[in-house]
Amino acid sequence: MYWNKEVECCSLDALRALQSYRLAQTVKRVYENVPLYRQRMDELGVKPEDIRSVDDLKKLPFTYKQDLRDTYPYGMFAVPMKEIVRLHASSGTTGKQIVVGYTRNDLDVWSDCCARALTAAGATKHDLMHVSYGYGLFTGGLGLHGGAEKLGMTVIPVSTGNTARQINILRDFGSTFICCTPSYALFLAETMKEMGIDKSEIKLKAGLFGAEPWTEEMRREIEDKLGLKALDIYGLTEIIGPGVAFECEEQNGMHINEDHFIVETIDPDTGEVLPEGSQGETVFSCITKEGFPLLRYRTRDIAVLSREKCSCGRTFIKMKKPAGRSDDMLIIRGVNVFPSQVESVLLQLGNTAPYYLLVVDRVNNTDTLEIKVEITPEMFSDTVKSLEDQSRAIKQAVESTLGISAKITLVEPKSLPRTEGKAVHVQDNRKLHD
Ligand code: ADP
Ligand code: ZN
Repeated sequence: MYWNKEVECCSLDALRALQSYRLAQTVKRVYENVPLYRQRMDELGVKPEDIRSVDDLKKLPFTYKQDLRDTYPYGMFAVPMKEIVRLHASSGTTGKQIVVGYTRNDLDVWSDCCARALTAAGATKHDLMHVSYGYGLFTGGLGLHGGAEKLGMTVIPVSTGNTARQINILRDFGSTFICCTPSYALFLAETMKEMGIDKSEIKLKAGLFGAEPWTEEMRREIEDKLGLKALDIYGLTEIIGPGVAFECEEQNGMHINEDHFIVETIDPDTGEVLPEGSQGETVFSCITKEGFPLLRYRTRDIAVLSREKCSCGRTFIKMKKPAGRSDDMLIIRGVNVFPSQVESVLLQLGNTAPYYLLVVDRVNNTDTLEIKVEITPEMFSDTVKSLEDQSRAIKQAVESTLGISAKITLVEPKSLPRTEGKAVHVQDNRKLHD
């Protein structure tokens, strides 16, 4: 049930000693090989010798996404290109894409991180792994592929696309594990229903879903519709890809692979390090990577960390479900809104499909919010009155949860776009006027 028990269940003292040693080595390497880090550290008057333990981390400068854009494509690489065996790029959800490079050892570390995630989900070499994350420059597909292969699973590299074919493969090949975005998992369930295939005809035991924020309500929906255990997995291209953190059977937070990544929570406005348990921006430092080792990378993901004892026995710190990126956070009439809050409200009420779109605009200098919500095919045949009741109920629930009013528009089943990758939940028209 553990991939590497000795490490995953080690004591905090042992972890800190390992992290401190690895951090010092990494800082020395990046100082020597990455001009941006040498320059930033020189400006701060910090020498590599000053970084001896995890406590010294705060002396180091932050790294921002903009730094990766400014040094595009290879400026942050810490080894010569002949050592790099693979390139990946961020999917470019927000702005210009960035490029990352892996040495052979980095790929090995990455597979290890994903093998841990799969093992925690209950997978063994007897299982069949259906990978529906995209293959290519996106890290999802090849990342989990590497982990599953390392674990000895039978890997089915399906990638994205052709949903009906995916369902036939799931059924015919007898896949027992799957990975994809949570929104695609729902789309698979929806398509399965249309094809008249019951969940009892597929053998999926568990799925690893990530690459975008999703709620507990969405988890229940996926578990119910696909008849599997849905686990969260987190990662980002800049740090390594999927497998930075993963859920265990407790399903209440993701253990961060702390022997490879040191995590901090900071106040996104002041940069101040916050105590464990505070909500803030998650910051990672890579301490084993060779090709692209970032120090104090500002993820812009907002989450809470907790080192409370976990019943699974793993001692690595847990990251509670991230609410989303600070870039996804909308400020509507001064109120902070995450699309995931709306998702939560909708799924709690029921009767609507988990497909929704927040349309934000500015009319006469006032922000407006319209929430388009897809109704289920069952609801579609209901009376006008019951639809009106539904719309009113959503309006009230949204207002009491978010603290702002919204126009609710119920739309026909299947009228909002489906996605194979990360779902788009926001259309912010205010940007068009700026
Ligand atoms: P891009 O930045 O282009 O979207 P990535 O695929 O590297 O490319 O995206 C990583 C981001 O995806 C993370 O920083 C985070 O915002 C989001 N993400 C990944 N996994 C999860 C997860 N399990 N829960 C919430 N958000 C996630
Ligand atoms: Zn656990």
